[in-house]
This record gives sequence, C-alpha cells and structure tokens, in this order.
Amino acid sequence: MARVLTYDDLPPDVQANLDLAYRAFGRRRYDEAVRGFTAVVDAYPAYIHGVFTLVRALRASDDRASANARLSAAAAIAPDDPRIELGLAWKALDAGDARDAEALATRALPRIEPALRGNVLAVLARAAEASGRTEDAARLFLEAYEAGTMLGWLEEHCRLAGIEYLDPGPDIIVPWPTTAVARRWMYEAIEASLVVAARANDPTVPDERVLITGCDGTARLTSAWAQRAGVDRARLYQALASRGGYCDCEVLMNAAERDGHDGFALVAGAIDGPLDEVVAVLEPLRSDDVPPGRPRLDPDAEPSEHYLGIYLDEAHRQIPLQVTDSASLGRVLRAVADRPPTRARLRLLVGFIDEAPAMVLAGPDEAPLRIQELDDGPVPSDLAAAWPDLAAQLAALRAGLPGPGS
Ligand SMILES: [Zn+2]
Repeated sequence: MARVLTYDDLPPDVQANLDLAYRAFGRRRYDEAVRGFTAVVDAYPAYIHGVFTLVRALRASDDRASANARLSAAAAIAPDDPRIELGLAWKALDAGDARDAEALATRALPRIEPALRGNVLAVLARAAEASGRTEDAARLFLEAYEAGTMLGWLEEHCRLAGIEYLDPGPDIIVPWPTTAVARRWMYEAIEASLVVAARANDPTVPDERVLITGCDGTARLTSAWAQRAGVDRARLYQALASRGGYCDCEVLMNAAERDGHDGFALVAGAIDGPLDEVVAVLEPLRSDDVPPGRPRLDPDAEPSEHYLGIYLDEAHRQIPLQVTDSASLGRVLRAVADRPPTRARLRLLVGFIDEAPAMVLAGPDEAPLRIQELDDGPVPSDLAAAWPDLAAQLAALRAGLPGPGS
C-alpha cells in the first residue's frame, strides 16, 4: 500500500497551488477548487486530504460520478483512512445502502479529525432515519450540530424531534428558552472552561486570545451546561445561533455580547443558616462599597468600575439591594452551582432591564440552583414560604428598574 502523503510532504510550489484551492473551497468557489485539487491529486494521488476535499467540491457541484471515481481510486491507496470511509459512506447513502453507510461511519468515527466529526455523525443520523430509528436519528443530528455547528443538522434534529425550527437568519431573533439569570451562569461556566482549556495547552496565551484558543470549534461546553441546567438544547442552540453563537467561543463573543452580558443587574438577597460557606463562595467578588439607599438601574449608564462585585452585610446576613455587573453575578451563580451550600441557603432576587425579575435559591443540603422568574402577579405561596418578605423585596427591586417607556 502506498504511503499517504500530507501537505508537508509536497513541494513548495504545489503547496502554494493547494493554498489557493483550499481558499476557493472555503469560499464555495467549487469550480475553481475542483480545477486546483484535480491538478494536485492527479500528480499526487496519495495526498488523501486533497482527494477528500476534491470529493467534497465535486459533490457540492453535483458531479457525484466524478466524486465516486476519485473515492474508488483513493480507497485503493488508503482503504482505512477515515476521510475515505466518510466519502464512501456518503456514496453508500446516495445509493440507498444505509447499512453500509452506517458501518463505514461507525468505523471512521473514533479516528476522524475533529473538524469532520459532525459530518460522520450526520451520516449515522441519516442511516438511522433510513432504518426507521427516528429517536436515534434525532439524537445523532443534535450531536452532529454540537460537533460541527451546521444549522442544517439542527434543523433535521428539530424536524425529527417535533420541535419548531426557526431559521436563525439575520432578521430573526429566536426567543430564549431560559431565563436571563440562567444565561449569566451559562456564560460564566463556558468562559471558565474555555480559559482552563486554553491555559492547559499554553499557559502564556494572552487574555484577548484565550477564548479562541480554548475553543475547539464545537458547542461541547454549551451542551454540557445545558444538560446540567436542564435547558432544552435544540431551542438554546437556535436562540444562540440567531445571535451569532455557534461554537463555544462565539457564544461568548457574539451571543453574550448581544445579550447584554457586559451590562448591569439589580440584586438583593439573604443567607439562611451559617454564613461561612456562602462567604467563601462570594469572597473573590466581595465589594466594600455600601450600596446607596435606593439603587436604580439606569438604561443609559456607561459601564463603570464602581459596581464591580457584590456587597454583603454580614451582621444582618443580607445582600442589600444593589447594582452589580452581570459578570460578577454570573460568577456568583457559577460558584454556588459548582459548590451548593450544605448547611446554608442562599436566596437571591435579580432584575435586569427588559427582563422579568427572577428568584434564585441554592442549598441547603447541596440542593442545586433553582431559578424562577416572577411575573407581575402576586408572589406564589410556595415562593413566599421560601422567602417570607419576598413581596416587599420584589417591590423594592421593581422600583429600581426602569419602567416601561421610561
Ligand atoms: Zn469557537
């Protein structure tokens, strides 16, 4: 069997031509890509990545006969290459042979490069659907989206799962399936994991590169958070995608930005039981600034250092009503979600501009975060039992939020 060639094995002038062909492929100029890759692959048939990209360009130009001929030639050189297996699986699906496609994709999956993992999962999804295994197919399309963030796979998932799909085009902002408070937790959870991933590879990554460096181009951290928080992933991905958030780093750089993540919140709260656990969680975020008597959230306020952190009145076990930055709030939520109090209970009331206020409870007995929005009606009796003066606190919080039309 001939040795498989990689890009680095090729002479510099061939590499230069390949650079142009890859760029044409990336820009969907498929005719140009087909010409470029054909010239290289005819001279170097063992350059499998080129063959595979040529196959994709040919399929994108609807020339499946040429694509299949290229695959057969490459299979004689590198039959076990996972990219060739993926190409042969596409060919099998075209021919209506779901079993063959599934066998090829199953073999390729553990060895395929991360950028193509979503494509392999999508083949498995199509094969499952063709075999009548609808639930498997729906799950696999969702996993394909998480691995490769192609909207078509998310749409297929929604179709099979019976979920409405709103194409997140430039004019459509899909509503959030979860509260504004939970989203602050989500952003902080993803950011913390991206920082860990980036620094694990290279401790010297500068801050402005850390999100991109930590991201592997998938939505795996967003997925992990959604499963942990019990949020519907398909609806969450639609909402995020409509705000430019596909892979994990885009969730932070695009969706969080549009979601006012660098903005402010009103927060009030109390600690029931011993203080020490909650104080330990809040410690890195503690502010010494006693909040003014009637804190207000000003929609036109410039971001200010003044509000960074959270003030805790230890003597009264209270978090008096105050303005804080949403990142500090997100860090508090992430910290108590990661380490819910065993003896104490933390209660928080949170208000954002243009969002319903929400109540957050954490602990005791390591009870996880409970987040519940409060509508304009009277406080439900079960919540009043958890927080006896909730109605009064809520009224004070609402007084600090800009009213409709103000
Ligand atoms: Zn990314």
